[in-house]
Amino acid sequence: MKHFKIIPSFLLVLFFTACATSPTGRNQLMLVSPDEAIFASREAYVKALSPLATDGKIDNNPVVSNRVKQITGRLITQAIETYPHTSNWEWSVKVIDDPEMVNAWCMAGGKMAIYTGLLNKVQPTDDELAQVMGHEISHALANHTAEKMSMAMASQMGMSALSIVLSTTGYGYGGLTMTGAELAAATAIHLPNSRTAEEEADRMGIELAAKAGYNPDAAATLWQKMGKVGGDSPPEFLSTHPAPSNRQETLRKLAPQVKHYYQEKKVRPVYPL
Ligand SMILES: [Zn+2]
Repeated sequence: MKHFKIIPSFLLVLFFTACATSPTGRNQLMLVSPDEAIFASREAYVKALSPLATDGKIDNNPVVSNRVKQITGRLITQAIETYPHTSNWEWSVKVIDDPEMVNAWCMAGGKMAIYTGLLNKVQPTDDELAQVMGHEISHALANHTAEKMSMAMASQMGMSALSIVLSTTGYGYGGLTMTGAELAAATAIHLPNSRTAEEEADRMGIELAAKAGYNPDAAATLWQKMGKVGGDSPPEFLSTHPAPSNRQETLRKLAPQVKHYYQEKKVRPVYPL
């Protein structure tokens, strides 16, 4: 009988340390705490981008970078207003010059990147670009990156899959050594989100963009445009952001619900990036 008491309470402790609740009330597996994920992502971001910076591939077109920073900066201001704990995040966005890569991501703690391939091939309007970045920011706000890092670390199979993803996507890190947590942080952005996480990011992202003054009708048109890009192989963005059921229809229904935010006549400050 004694053992019966010990084992369940031990499991209970494990359950509560490893689980968290997302902003929309979903249970999440959390082997890495959000703070640990942010800490690891800070280093992983620098190490992932530094070889690209050496090659002159980061923010090398000021017009493009300024556009991205303006839009993302307005979203960040709203994100901080809604989630005040993110005011001490070291928010950052970089444009990576890779004309073939149709992708954008946000690591834990608000470290973002968008590739010129997405900008050139999708040709998003400002409203649509705000949906991309709002969706990415929402993944970080909802701790999806930490969740994916946790999933990766939870299984040995996951870790070996990570190294395959890294080698096949050509994301070498220029010989810079990463710790296990940093590697998981860097790799998490190349792993697909669950459809539930996608739904969550869609819902949070469209609201965030509306609050930042971007038309929520652009969410549906963005995913429509995204679907037309790629030809034989789908863009990286669609493989890391798999479609929840009826995505466009759901977004079309959500748009009128958040439109009042978009229509508010007010100044929307840009977070300096
Ligand atoms: Zn997503």
